[in-house]
Amino acid sequence: MREVTRDFPIEKFENIQTPFYYYNTQLLKETLDVINSETSKFDNYHVHYAVKANANPIILGIIKDAGLGADCVSGGEVEAALKAGFTPDKIVFAGVGKSDWEITLALEAGISCFNVESIPELENIDRIAKEMRKCASVALRINPNVDAHTHSYITTGLSENKFGIDISMIDNVLECLTQLSNVKLVGLHFHFGSQITDMDSFRSLAIRINEIQEIFYRRMVIVDNINVGGGLGVDYQNPDINPIPDFHAYFETFRKHLVLRPKQHLHFELGRSVVCQCGTLISKVLYVKEGIGKKFAILDAGMTDLIRPALYQAYHKIENISSDAEKEAYDVVGPICESSDCFGKAIELNSTKRGDLIAIRSAGAYGEIMASQYNCRRLPKPYFSDKI
Ligand SMILES: *Cc1c(COP(=O)(O)O)cnc(C)c1O
Repeated sequence: MREVTRDFPIEKFENIQTPFYYYNTQLLKETLDVINSETSKFDNYHVHYAVKANANPIILGIIKDAGLGADCVSGGEVEAALKAGFTPDKIVFAGVGKSDWEITLALEAGISCFNVESIPELENIDRIAKEMRKCASVALRINPNVDAHTHSYITTGLSENKFGIDISMIDNVLECLTQLSNVKLVGLHFHFGSQITDMDSFRSLAIRINEIQEIFYRRMVIVDNINVGGGLGVDYQNPDINPIPDFHAYFETFRKHLVLRPKQHLHFELGRSVVCQCGTLISKVLYVKEGIGKKFAILDAGMTDLIRPALYQAYHKIENISSDAEKEAYDVVGPICESSDCFGKAIELNSTKRGDLIAIRSAGAYGEIMASQYNCRRLPKPYFSDKI
């Protein structure tokens, strides 16, 4: 079988130092349009982009221009969001271990909400807010104990995980809140995993949230905001067939199954599903090496540029975009001194030679942002389809 990908401006790539990230800004904008058209059907749905998926300033700018808010998990991300122009009222701050300087920075900026994950954290935010003569709005991150049926490294909503407050602790937390004068409970927050493609998992989460809301209701607590986190997955196998995730089915699942009280707002924190498909890691073949019973395509990109395969055995579609010759199988590997530095085994590529360009697809989320300089390597640079 022959396959030629024509979507990449290969002539323009020839002059760029590989490896680099290539972002299709048109696809990112189309994805944001779909999100906005789905959520505009409701006046109480709000999407905060999870900055940790990709904090490239140009990407953040496009997402800000589309009107989304920002979900941050560190002081650095709060700074990046502010710098990109997100207004503080659209910034929320989550994370299991917030440092004092990060809490101070977020209070100074006047962000809309801290998603709080423990009683000691609640007490600490109260203490800092008191010193600053401020009141911090907080949402409690409740561990829903719902299995997201995804890879164990990206499951966060089970009792065994470090994230969130267990529902059995709720009375202690509510008691603690009555003692604290500089924090105000404004929401409940949930996030139970990532790369979730089965809507039944989101339905289970919605039903569990209904039960948890009842538990709070019985204690006469109704919050203004329910935040269901992120986690919507993408089609890594077929990035050309499914470049935009099924946001309609996603939002519909919550509309159908989540019971909101009057005037409650529903918040989403989508990361991967917003930016994943618009990004590609472009690399060059350094050598084709004959192994025992197999061939290796040795790339100039490695796990330092895209760590997901090495970290979570993640699959990325790999294509030779320079060749239209018959397919052959290769183990596609990087140059780093680690055996896990392998992008895929027995990958069918158009017959490959030194100098060919290789596209590693669906790399817009948790790609560039996770790049490291291990082996003293240079960081991959970003390029954009409308500026190349
Ligand atoms: C990682 C994370 C997200 C985003 O997850 P995606 O799978 O990229 O959508 C949202 N909220 C919180 C609290 C997170 O930690």
